[in-house]
Amino acid sequence: MIPLEVIQIEVGLLQNFCEVIGCPQTGEAALIDPAFEVDRLVGAAKKRGWTVTTILLTHTHDDHIAGLDEAAELTGAVVRCHPVEVDTAGQQAPNVVPVDDGEDVLVGQGRIRALYTPGHMPGCVCWYLPETGALITGDVLFVGSIGGVKFPQSDPDAMFHSLHRVLGALPEETRVYPGHDYGKTPTSTLAWEFVHNPALQVDDAAAFRKLHGL
Ligand SMILES: [Zn+2]
Ligand SMILES: [Zn+2]
Repeated sequence: MIPLEVIQIEVGLLQNFCEVIGCPQTGEAALIDPAFEVDRLVGAAKKRGWTVTTILLTHTHDDHIAGLDEAAELTGAVVRCHPVEVDTAGQQAPNVVPVDDGEDVLVGQGRIRALYTPGHMPGCVCWYLPETGALITGDVLFVGSIGGVKFPQSDPDAMFHSLHRVLGALPEETRVYPGHDYGKTPTSTLAWEFVHNPALQVDDAAAFRKLHGL
């Protein structure tokens, strides 16, 4: 497997980050969370001679899939997401296939691994690129903060586990690509987050709940 290239693009009015991820050998590419300004996302792939064959979703909150129907129609790509998000995604795209926890989705000669990270929503997936050392975190982890855990479907205990056990098990030099531009910098590293992010300072789920007033 070879390292894939990651391009981060900020779109829309909610400071959403989307990613275009391409194989430098074959030109196959994946879009992550086609939220808004789909023409810019597909255009960024085209500019590099890439062809989008896969769309990956971190979860199906509107601000992450508002452009899914347009992106699916433009590219004909297969959509991959958590099993509990398939129905919602399927209302916008004809070809939605659930992804397993730990499954490697192949993009050209590279791979993007699905890591189930429930908490913000039950169907949250972080997408990990082992060879690149990159992690697309959606609304699970932002630079210096985390996604909301007070939605009706949120689960703070699951969020604590996702952050500390699932993401905490990855190499600390892993670069974090968040779902929104809410931090001081557009990306960070897990090492930086474990020193500076208050949600990653607490030692157990009870302290995590308390931190969020729950
Ligand atoms: Zn969300
Ligand atoms: Zn969001």
